[in-house]
Amino acid sequence: MAPTSASDIPSLNLLYKLKKLDVSRLGPLKGASPVHNDRIGLFRGDITTLSVDAIVNAANTSLLGGGGVDGAIHRAAGKGLLAECRTLGGCPTGSSKITNGYNLPCQKVIHTVGPVYNDSKPAESEAHLRSCYRTSLELAVQNDLKTIAFSAISTGVYGYPSLDAANVACDTVRKYMDGDDGKKLDKVIFVTFEEKDVRAYNSLLPRHFPPSIPASSDQDSITGEQAAEAEAKASQLPDVPTTDPADSEHVPKKQRQSNED
Ligand code: ADP
Repeated sequence: MAPTSASDIPSLNLLYKLKKLDVSRLGPLKGASPVHNDRIGLFRGDITTLSVDAIVNAANTSLLGGGGVDGAIHRAAGKGLLAECRTLGGCPTGSSKITNGYNLPCQKVIHTVGPVYNDSKPAESEAHLRSCYRTSLELAVQNDLKTIAFSAISTGVYGYPSLDAANVACDTVRKYMDGDDGKKLDKVIFVTFEEKDVRAYNSLLPRHFPPSIPASSDQDSITGEQAAEAEAKASQLPDVPTTDPADSEHVPKKQRQSNED
């Protein structure tokens, strides 16, 4: 299967037009604006298949690989990635570092270290998670990268509740895109993998990036041809893997939890 490029990934505008995102429960929206909807994408599947400028890895403080998405990225990138990661000297929680993509179809990998969710210190976990998204976006802009795809940081073995994590992800990305540096990005893509994160993003994206006009009066704004083209694109997207990567027992991540405390 050929890699999926950023332009193949449906934008929020397109998803609204196709009625793929439920906006029926949207209440009053304060401070949210539709201006970014052509530059926000949503993709369900394996992030290692994306030929974007940068993918964001949910790494650990060692940056030496692990389970989950980290393991999938290192396997697909090959040994060159681990060799470069060894030169970086690790990375603290809430920070990000950048490497080349090696055998991956993306140009660069941004490794960000999400928090192990601590339900007795939710504000601290949130600050770290916000910092992951912000520092990753900053690295993308500093390196002149235009398209960036985020995995759902910390929502796997690090235990951050999916809805809360999606809320932080959407809010941080929206605020960044509101700023001057945000204008330098062509597309920010949220990648979901498990059903719980699909549901979380489906319900929270419309709150942070609402449609510009009510969905009910939106029917005429897309032609049949555009809809057919979009459906064709969607059907070409790779199937979502039904199992996690083979090494997803996360043994290394369990060790790393003690580093975080
Ligand atoms: P963390 O330790 O930060 O929680 P995980 O890798 O365990 O990191 O999970 C982060 C997110 O990545 C989870 O939502 C998980 O479902 C998702 N994920 C796992 N494998 C992939 C993949 N190949 N592509 C995209 N997302 C993935």
